[in-house]
Amino acid sequence: MSEHRTTVAGVAVDTRHWIGGQRVASPRTFTDASPIDGAPIGEISRGTAVEARAAVAAAKAAFPGWAATPRAERARLLHAVADGVEKRTEELANVETVDNGALLRSHRRGVMPRVAHNFRFFADWLLTLEHEDFATRGHTNHVTWDPAGPCVLITPWNAPLMLATWKVAPALAAGNTVVLKPAEWSPLTASLLADIAAEAGLPAGVLNVVQGYGSEVGDALTSHPDVRRISFTGSVPTAQHIAASAAANLTPLSLELGGKSPLLVFADADLDLAVDLAVEQYDNAGQVCLAATRLLVEEAVAEEFTRRFVAKASRLRQGDPREESTDIGPTIHPRQVAKIDGFVRRALAAGARAVIGGHPGEGQYYAPTLLTDVRQDSEIVQEEVFGPVLTLQTFTSEDDAVHLANDTRFGLAATLATGDPERAERVTARLVAGTVWVNCFFVRDLKAPFGGSRHSGIGREGGTWSFDFYCDLKNTVTAPKGWKDHG
Ligand code: NAP
Ligand code: MG
Repeated sequence: MSEHRTTVAGVAVDTRHWIGGQRVASPRTFTDASPIDGAPIGEISRGTAVEARAAVAAAKAAFPGWAATPRAERARLLHAVADGVEKRTEELANVETVDNGALLRSHRRGVMPRVAHNFRFFADWLLTLEHEDFATRGHTNHVTWDPAGPCVLITPWNAPLMLATWKVAPALAAGNTVVLKPAEWSPLTASLLADIAAEAGLPAGVLNVVQGYGSEVGDALTSHPDVRRISFTGSVPTAQHIAASAAANLTPLSLELGGKSPLLVFADADLDLAVDLAVEQYDNAGQVCLAATRLLVEEAVAEEFTRRFVAKASRLRQGDPREESTDIGPTIHPRQVAKIDGFVRRALAAGARAVIGGHPGEGQYYAPTLLTDVRQDSEIVQEEVFGPVLTLQTFTSEDDAVHLANDTRFGLAATLATGDPERAERVTARLVAGTVWVNCFFVRDLKAPFGGSRHSGIGREGGTWSFDFYCDLKNTVTAPKGWKDHG
């Protein structure tokens, strides 16, 4: 570790910002630690309004050139970024695991390939983006997607590079320039992305990365008058703060926020599949916005479901996320462990029963937990824990199930386990959720709209919806040749 770089898992990472094609240091740093053992792994440049403004200025200066770059050339450069990601998959996977504690095997096989795919998908989608012209009294309507301008993208720590590139790729494809602010608990792969983009030939200032505490660097970015879009993934209170800050310039926002999603298990379900879906909710130590953390099980099968759930969950191996055999790694930060435990303590004090877990483990590990005897209006049912903590409630009718499922302030996702396709259709139609999975979980296509309702967010991204957000849509109406306006 030196002033400007660190070596993590054998990979050299520059710890300075990336602004206008240059590495820029701040006078102060903050310490990045690994959740695996709490050890410091980097002294990261700690941005302030100064670096935020410099990054927006760089993005603004680079915008006209990038916006005017032909679509095919922008697409070619994004594919070159994808090539760079693929070349460095092993390095990115290792650095991400040490930085945020999620499983190495899933970074290697699922996440980093998906990061490359983010760039390829939006590059290709850009080339197909068109709306059929249509006529109005002989005049032609022609719809175009004009680049909006500099975009501020703010992302969380639970899937750092995956969530960042899910915004960076469509924003750049659309012809915008970008200032990315990664989360302070996991900033390293964003810095590697800057290297990869530079190597791929992305012009200076098109992608900028500013590090720092959200509370110190955030407002300067989100209230900046030259910023044309803000896309944020994170928590509800931060989103509310950002929305207020963006209001000064009426900057359009896309907000991907938290959830308290249900898994509805009907008595007619394949119970082993339902149990698999339920246990899967411990993935990434429960630090997944989409996690179906409320198990709603039809009373007739609740006992059998619980028995099989406990049998399967107790076989999960918790430990070092670099080990191939590990199923659950650590949580991101000691503060997060304390927060999770606070939720569980209060639930137990209010009468909940821990079927499994209910306590922290060593270091930053939290035992996979299932709580029953919880009330619908209690904190543990209503608030997002963002840890390996599930609740189980029972229902007796479809109406009852739908009521419980919808009775929180969130609306991100819902999962159904049922053997009856008609029931699936009936229930789905009544659920408030941006995504509904029937007899599956976490299957996501970049073509599909993604986002949440109510406090789970504003807007949808994915496929054309991403371009709708990152562009200013323009309709051009052209008169037929020789047409005269006679009033
Ligand atoms: P968070 O505290 O809201 O932080 C998210 C990002 O916002 C971080 O980069 C943070 O920076 C930054 N930030 C903090 N204060 C800011 C401010 N005043 N202005 C601008 N930016 C600011 O959320 P988190 O705890 O890291 O992430 C977990 C949350 O994200 C959960 O609620 C989860 O459900 C949600 N999430 C949603 C999705 C989705 O797609 N819907 C996906 C993943 C996660 P620093 O942390 O560096 O200070
Ligand atoms: Mg870290």
